Amino acid sequence: MEERLRELLEQDDLTKAYNRRELYNVLNGLIEQYNKTGERFSLIMYDIDHFKKINDQHGHLIGDKILKELSQYIIDHKRSKDTLFRYGGEEFIITLGDTKLDGAKQLAKRFKEGISEVDFTDVSEMTVSMGVVEYHDNERPDDLLKRVDEFMYKAKEAGRDQIKFE
Ligand code: GH3
Ligand code: MG
Ligand code: MG
Repeated sequence: MEERLRELLEQDDLTKAYNRRELYNVLNGLIEQYNKTGERFSLIMYDIDHFKKINDQHGHLIGDKILKELSQYIIDHKRSKDTLFRYGGEEFIITLGDTKLDGAKQLAKRFKEGISEVDFTDVSEMTVSMGVVEYHDNERPDDLLKRVDEFMYKAKEAGRDQIKFE
């Protein structure tokens, strides 16, 4: 019962990703840990490319199913120190504990390649655009989120289906 209540409060029902409020809790925890021990962490932000078109062509219910399948893929393939968050509609963040930029780039690449091989319901191909950053000294959660969003946006601008990093 207590467990279920916690899930309802912290997780998104559709995707089982953690919600935005929980993202801030986790980021504050990672920053505190960094200030104490110097342990670095990084973020990946990804957004599905042309998801509107997928909804238009296949309907919102299929869109929902695909969001669920994509999140399940990440949840199944992330490390235990990584956490998936639903940041917006079809926009997600993965926090990468104890990970510097180089490691984060490798992981982003692996996730992206993995996603390209998932057999999603009704769509033959679905791509994502990704931004990757490492936490900088003295950054507040919102500064960090703004920065990773900028790199994700650069990936969109550069033609989508790619990763941009600092
Ligand atoms: P871009 O490559 O620029 O990201 O194009 P896009 O079409 O993915 O981006 P845009 O932000 O214009 O549209 C996002 C779409 O995602 C619109 C919205 O209806 C859809 N969406 C957001 N949340 C959900 C959801 O929970 N379920 C479904 N089925 N669709 C959703
Ligand atoms: Mg999109
Ligand atoms: Mg979007």
